[in-house]
Order: sequence, then C-alpha cells, then structure tokens
Amino acid sequence: MENPYAPPKKIDDAVLPEHVANDLVGLRREGNFVVCADNAEWPDRCAVCNQAVSGRKMTRKLFWHPGWIYLLFLVSWILYLIVALIVRKKGTIHISVCERHRKRRVMGILIASIGSLMCLLLAIIGALMTDSGSPVSGAIVLIGILGIVTCLITGALMIRVVTPIKIADNTLWIKAGNAFTDSI
Ligand SMILES: [Zn+2]
Repeated sequence: MENPYAPPKKIDDAVLPEHVANDLVGLRREGNFVVCADNAEWPDRCAVCNQAVSGRKMTRKLFWHPGWIYLLFLVSWILYLIVALIVRKKGTIHISVCERHRKRRVMGILIASIGSLMCLLLAIIGALMTDSGSPVSGAIVLIGILGIVTCLITGALMIRVVTPIKIADNTLWIKAGNAFTDSI
C-alpha cells in the first residue's frame, strides 16, 4: 500500500507546460548569445542584470548587416550607407529593464546629446578665441573635440542594453547582460 504521507512525486519539468516550466519560452542560449524569434517577448527580468522586473516592457528595434559591408566605408561612406540600408535585416524584441539600468540609459542619452553639445560649444569658443590671439585657444578647441568623442562613446555604451550580433530568417542572435545570459 502506498504511504499517504509520502511527499508528492517530483514532477518532471518535461511534462509541465512550457510556460509553467520556465519563463524562457522561445529563448535559448548559443555560446554567449541569446537566440530568439523576431517579436519575441523576453521574461520579466532585467536583460542586463537579471533582476526581477514587473510591469512594462521596452521595445527595441534592432538592425544588423554582415560585417563585410563596413569595408565599403573605405570606398565611400555614401556607398556604405546605401548598401547597408538595402541589405540590413531588422528585428524587434520586447525586453524588461530594471529601474537602475533604465536610469543609466536615460543618463547615457543626456551625455551623448547635451554633453557633446556643450563640448561642441567649448570647441567653437576656443576657435573664436584663436582670432583674438589667445594662447590657450588651441588647448580649448582640443579639449572640446576630445570631449565630444568621449561623450558620444560613453553615451553610446550607457544607452546600449542589448546588441544584435546577427539577424537572419526572423531569428535574432543578441548579446545581452552576462547575468541574464547565464540564467538561460
Ligand atoms: Zn538591471
């Protein structure tokens, strides 16, 4: 006779409906990348740090083209732009981002826009000072230009949450946060 006080038998994950078994329906891992279908809805966990997130999703439209297209840049940037626009593949994903990483993204947008604009003004002021023969004008122009580059790179790194590595046949290969990727 079966012991009525025995703990319930462990239910094999495989017999559970997929959405109950985990929240990663439609997502799989390939190396360091997350692979999903176009328009996939990612789980309610931050795509960067894997912290649980409830509420709204962030929709990201992603574009990708093969790396060799960049070689056209050496010929002409207009040619590159035209070919890239023709051959690029696009995909959409709906991800969750925690409050901390959402704020970091907003800060990145501010640095890339307002920060680089301020540095541009500084460079222009430096250039105007050249006319008046100021000895420090060259240094001010240089600081301004370096500032623009720094703001654009820093801003771009902070804005980025996920990066498309490849898009083909309605499938996206994406670089997400390590903590999130490791959870798959
Ligand atoms: Zn996060």
